[in-house]
Amino acid sequence: MASYKSGIDLRKEPHLHAANPYANDYTDGSFKVREDLLPLVRGILLPNYRILEREKELFARIERDYRGADPLFIPILKGAVRFSQDMFRFSKEIDPDYEFMPASSYGTRLESGSVRLNLAEITRLLEKLENRKRPVIIVEDIVDTGNTLSHIVDVLTRIDDVIDSQPELKGFRRKGRYEPSSVTICTMLNKPARRKDANKDLPVEYVGFTIPDLWVFGYGLDVWDDKSRTIDHLCVIKDEWKDPANLAEFFREVDERRKKKTTKKQD
Ligand code: 5GP
Repeated sequence: MASYKSGIDLRKEPHLHAANPYANDYTDGSFKVREDLLPLVRGILLPNYRILEREKELFARIERDYRGADPLFIPILKGAVRFSQDMFRFSKEIDPDYEFMPASSYGTRLESGSVRLNLAEITRLLEKLENRKRPVIIVEDIVDTGNTLSHIVDVLTRIDDVIDSQPELKGFRRKGRYEPSSVTICTMLNKPARRKDANKDLPVEYVGFTIPDLWVFGYGLDVWDDKSRTIDHLCVIKDEWKDPANLAEFFREVDERRKKKTTKKQD
């Protein structure tokens, strides 16, 4: 077996685990990451099993707090897809009712961008709130500056006014009031060091892990431009990739190598 450099000195960064394409997860302390993506990984901050353990605890708390309350979960696309679906598997009492909400950031930078919300894309979600005064739990992958969630919380708490101000809302006929009884946030990751002062009061009630100011990816989060979301573990990026131009080049080369391999096989 080839020997693989994990990219980290574990003595200096004891909070990180090594990544290894041949890892036998759970037994030797290193965790599996696909070989072609390995050069991106400084180390693994949260192995998959720890995330799952925490999801179980979080959902147990949510079920206790919302017993009989008929909450509507709103996972934010796309980062919260994996977190929400894995967490919902731990439900015992609530049959989680959820509607995804797209909230695309502008651009493909390694930073959080301002958010775009299109009410026409969430008409099913609106129908589920119709005249029912339901509590809403927004499910997010990570809270960084807090700008994205601040905007979403603002829209949901003032939803009736927002609907009225969008007469062009396609395919949606207003049949009453849509305001939730409460809006709260459940996030897998929280980076409080990055929070903007204006967002200090966000209702971040359920937090999987509080993490330092690091760029993380995997377990649903993309490293850049939708790439590498499907790695099982939450990884920290190596410093040299923090420039998106380098990442674009890296993925171009990965694609080329893959194409070459496929052509060779066909020959
Ligand atoms: P905020 O609006 O709180 O600054 O940023 C929220 C969004 O920025 C997240 O939903 C996520 O898309 C992105 N983001 C912030 N920090 C990270 C990070 O460390 N890694 C990745 N992959 N995305 C992040």
